[in-house]
Amino acid sequence: MKKPYYIDYPQEHVEGHAHTYQCVYCKVVTTTINGSIEGHLPSCEFRLKLERDGFEKNADSNSLPCSSSDEVD
Ligand SMILES: [Zn+2]
Repeated sequence: MKKPYYIDYPQEHVEGHAHTYQCVYCKVVTTTINGSIEGHLPSCEFRLKLERDGFEKNADSNSLPCSSSDEVD
């Protein structure tokens, strides 16, 4: 299961920064998280929950190029 963005995590206001919010669990600011699971710390409760639930990470660079069609003679 995959979603383009993961923004439904609990957020809290960053003290001293009027328009900055951070994840309640890992304290990473929302602009760094940028809607991706990997934006959270590996120990983040929200990230762990998503991964437990079977959500995939957003990385698309995980697929290796399949170029094994060499016909060496
Ligand atoms: Zn988090």
